[in-house]
Amino acid sequence: MTKTTRLIFLGPPGAGKGTQAKILARSLQIPHISTGEILRDAISQQSSLGQKAQEYVDRGELVPDELMLDLIRKRLSQPDARNGWILDGFPRNVEQASFLEPLLKELDQTNFLVINLEVPDSVLIARLLARGRKDDTEATISRRLEVYREQTAPLIEHYQSLGKLHSANGDLEPEEVTQALKQLVEKSLPSE
Ligand code: AMP
Repeated sequence: MTKTTRLIFLGPPGAGKGTQAKILARSLQIPHISTGEILRDAISQQSSLGQKAQEYVDRGELVPDELMLDLIRKRLSQPDARNGWILDGFPRNVEQASFLEPLLKELDQTNFLVINLEVPDSVLIARLLARGRKDDTEATISRRLEVYREQTAPLIEHYQSLGKLHSANGDLEPEEVTQALKQLVEKSLPSE
């Protein structure tokens, strides 16, 4: 019985989504799709997407859905996404999730798990300040946490009601989190 791994990582900025997604994607040999990374690349190349997205990313606001939906449709339609994927940073609000569901049906990629990485607020802020990315200044961090609570956290209930939600403790050593996530995927991933 083959299993194709498709994971959506939820969790506030600083929860460790990127770190864990990178490790798991490498070990499972599937693409790690980070919309934040795609946007940062576009910004550094000053592509048309990058020019449109920059002001939002710099302020810690969400980039408008129309840009994000187009981006994710293109990325999930690439041939490598047929083997599975880990989504890190998408969906970021209920509208994006409502777009993603029919898109995944269309692409015949409906078997997926949602993992919510839980970390206390005090730990998040310390981690983000230590990370030192361009959008990790104190003002932007607090705006990103607010945007998370207002727009992204409602997705926890959304996926809970779809029976897709799993939680993992993100406040452990990275290796321990990876271990727990591997077990969770092994145990919970639906067979095809
Ligand atoms: P991240 O690397 O996931 O923390 O994302 C960094 C920034 O990119 C966010 O603060 C947003 O400005 C933007 N961003 C990333 N993913 C999305 C998304 N799905 N929708 C809107 N904006 C996004």
